[in-house]
Amino acid sequence: DSTTAPNFIRTQIREEVEAGKVEKVVTRFPPEPNGFLHIGHAKSICLNFGLAEQFGGDCHLRFDDTNPAKEEQAYIDAIKDDVQWLGFQWAGDVRYASDYFDQLYAWAQHLVREGKAYVDDLSPDEIREYRGTLTEPGQPSPYRDRSVEENLDLLERMRVGEFAEGEKVLRAKIDMSSPNINLRDPILYRIRHASHHQSGDKWKIYPSYDFTHGQSDAIEGVTHSICTLEFEDHRPLYEWFLENLPVPSVPRQIEFARLNMNYTLTSKRKLKLLVDNGFVDGWDDPRMPTLSGMRRRGYTPASIRKFCEMIGVTRADGGLVDIAMLYHAIRSDLEDNAPRAMCVLRPLKVILTNVPEDFEEVYDVKGHPARDDMPSRRIPLNREIWIDRDDFMEEPPKKFFRLAPGKEVRLRNSYVIRCDDVIKNDTGEIEALHCSVDFDTLGKNPEGRKVKGVIHWVSATHGVPVELRLYDNLFQVEMPDKDRDADFLEHLNPESLVTLKGIAEPGLKETVPESRFQFERVGYFCADRYACRDGALVFNRIVGLKDTWAK
Ligand code: ATP
Ligand code: MG
Ligand code: MG
Repeated sequence: DSTTAPNFIRTQIREEVEAGKVEKVVTRFPPEPNGFLHIGHAKSICLNFGLAEQFGGDCHLRFDDTNPAKEEQAYIDAIKDDVQWLGFQWAGDVRYASDYFDQLYAWAQHLVREGKAYVDDLSPDEIREYRGTLTEPGQPSPYRDRSVEENLDLLERMRVGEFAEGEKVLRAKIDMSSPNINLRDPILYRIRHASHHQSGDKWKIYPSYDFTHGQSDAIEGVTHSICTLEFEDHRPLYEWFLENLPVPSVPRQIEFARLNMNYTLTSKRKLKLLVDNGFVDGWDDPRMPTLSGMRRRGYTPASIRKFCEMIGVTRADGGLVDIAMLYHAIRSDLEDNAPRAMCVLRPLKVILTNVPEDFEEVYDVKGHPARDDMPSRRIPLNREIWIDRDDFMEEPPKKFFRLAPGKEVRLRNSYVIRCDDVIKNDTGEIEALHCSVDFDTLGKNPEGRKVKGVIHWVSATHGVPVELRLYDNLFQVEMPDKDRDADFLEHLNPESLVTLKGIAEPGLKETVPESRFQFERVGYFCADRYACRDGALVFNRIVGLKDTWAK
């Protein structure tokens, strides 16, 4: 498949498996439950679960829940839903880093006993100052040489809540002059008098990300701990813990380049800002790059998985993936799999003057031009129909092959009609067109002339009213958060949502939420997961028809 891009981690693991270096591949997807998952996370999910699937291994879902202040059960539930919606299932139960708090604490005591960790009384600001910079070495804390007994006692008192937040931390004793700042006595525990969504009020101290992640991997028997490039500099620390603690297995950290996409934010913090300030209608607003937003918009799991396959996995950072590629992925899925339908977005009434009042003819039309397994549609023609306003021009330019005064056009699946008269109201607005049908044109070309244009239409007698939500990019510029000092909110696209009242062919009356269609000549649409109900049809535009992705 030309759409499969290189994936260096897959290549590497295949070699290891073939050389017998690894028996069973175990990966994990480790979200922090502080927001909803976005398209960047999809890359990590497809990679981790995909590798486990491919090599007959396991992928764990582990919540990296070491910061209770920002985390919530609602995020945990949404993340589980999103992973399953994408079509993946974690091995065993959902896991939590907080499941390992007892073990981590025992390991912290172990480091203290070995003289490799100490309680520090410096304030967070002082610690930062003492730590030094890239060009200047760090200075040891005056508390660095406390005795093992004193450290054990203070750590225990930190744990039970004897000290205030920020008063003390536990640090590893590694190397204050290391060129890698992550090794300058990193923090292992902070005091936080916060209630935790899993462990309740049991703990008054919480382990840092660095002290938690690798050891959790080791406890779970993870073989390949895959993360984004920001963690490359943390790898020596990841390995230091594994070397200095009696861990049951030794995982390996591998970094890859995160996904960045134009017109899109992939930071939970910034997405949360959009939600909290009402710039969008929740985390699952169809304009959001969250998986729940994309689901609501109408993306299929297959299209997101295909997109993740297309972008590949490399260590080359800095690239910006074109959102046109994502649009290409959903379009090509729906081109093959979405039934067709006719829907008029901006209705203009057409009266077929040479057709009797009670006229009705019903066409049996294929559900999809290339699929015989899809049910056919019944399309009635009556004296009054709707066409799209865009398909008529009173004074058309030369190459306008749609309807105009005195011109002919074919109604899709039906006859050729001619526009004889334009009916206007007092203010000069066009209210309706009077047209006549050429009854000798059903399924055949008219005599002696060519009619190039074909337009979609809906019977005014039987068409069903629909609300159409036309979505576009949420941001107007390719990199809304490029300028760190400026406000990315200034780049919001004021036309990211346009709502229209349209009319759809009668068969759509029974539409089930989340079903997808190609509205012919218009675009791909999905019945809104929540708002679409009997008698109130609401369709979201997923994407237009025209593919702009250049392979
Ligand atoms: P954010 O910055 O949006 O909060 P995060 O990395 O802090 O993202 P986590 O919940 O910790 O969010 O991420 C879970 C996993 O998903 C991590 O392994 C992380 O590396 C990966 N991930 C997050 N964003 C991306 C991205 N844009 N591309 C690829 N992987 C990502
Ligand atoms: Mg993270
Ligand atoms: Mg983050």
